[in-house]
Amino acid sequence: MSNIKRDIMSLELDALTQEMILLNEKKFRGIQVFEWLHQKDCFTWKGMNNLPKALLVKLEEHAYITEMQMVTKQTSGHDGTTKFLFKLYDGQMIETVLMRYDYGNSVCISTQAGCRMGCTFCASGLNGLERNLTTGEMLRQVYAVEREIGKRITHVVLMGTGEPLDNYDAVLGFIKIITHDKGKNLSQRHITLSTCGMVDGIRRLASEKLQINLAISLHASDDELRKQTMPIAKKYSIDEILTACEAYFISTGRRITFEYALIAGHNDHPSQARALADLLRFRKFKCHVNLIPINNVVEKAFAKSNQKEVARFRDILLDKKVETTIRRSLGTDIDAACGQLRFNAMKK
Ligand code: SF4
Repeated sequence: MSNIKRDIMSLELDALTQEMILLNEKKFRGIQVFEWLHQKDCFTWKGMNNLPKALLVKLEEHAYITEMQMVTKQTSGHDGTTKFLFKLYDGQMIETVLMRYDYGNSVCISTQAGCRMGCTFCASGLNGLERNLTTGEMLRQVYAVEREIGKRITHVVLMGTGEPLDNYDAVLGFIKIITHDKGKNLSQRHITLSTCGMVDGIRRLASEKLQINLAISLHASDDELRKQTMPIAKKYSIDEILTACEAYFISTGRRITFEYALIAGHNDHPSQARALADLLRFRKFKCHVNLIPINNVVEKAFAKSNQKEVARFRDILLDKKVETTIRRSLGTDIDAACGQLRFNAMKK
């Protein structure tokens, strides 16, 4: 065996049982370790009290369990949204947000430390990409929040810092482990992956035949406007993204969500609402538009559209029979803009 310690939390069950065979152990020990980590929230070797001592010694020697420390926690006095800042083993900080809804507890997790996509309205990419998160670091965000509130997390949104499809394999591992029946057994339908529109990744995801929800950060109704705020638009056109979404819908049957952050005077004109409706309404997918009044980011010169403009934008889409809702702004009294808490912490 190599001297490099294995990241045990990131291993899917098959890989974990293979690991046991390499350690000259029976396969079922892999299931036991998997259950300790992913069902019973045990993050120390000595807590795994049905494993023989000799195995624990081997595990300690050959593997490590992902560590993460909670640095701060801010809860909104308005709606109970809680934003957590976690510190990773190498000093990187990541954000995780808990949103409480009538239907359950939803956690928005980060998939990368920083982001290289450079969307100009987003605080997450202000310093570029630091590194990808491991599968274990994504899982620990969910487990840590669960432990903190003493309640089950029922929904997960991959919409925090980072572009999930830019960290494809680790994200796929996360989805497989969190939905495993020997783990948290979360329904795939309760997971939403949000992408800025990495077409190759969307197509690859379509081929996995999962049942997760796909959300596209669109934020513009034409390529030229999109290029002004989202560098990824120089690589993939809106038409390419929508064609990939059709492939995703054909493969999964899942409705696609389009996220549209309204920025005052930039993309909130009625003509843009009409163009957006025309883009979406004759496609081979079921879809839904989520209008997001953006949170102001102090470092960026964007302001949110006023309520009247947001309502007018929605009404144009609804008139053209495009299902549309205005997303409730959560956590407006805390550093709620995506990446804001992390950015402020890394500045210190
Ligand atoms: S919006 Fe998403 S993809 Fe764009 S910079 Fe922010 S985290 Fe990255």
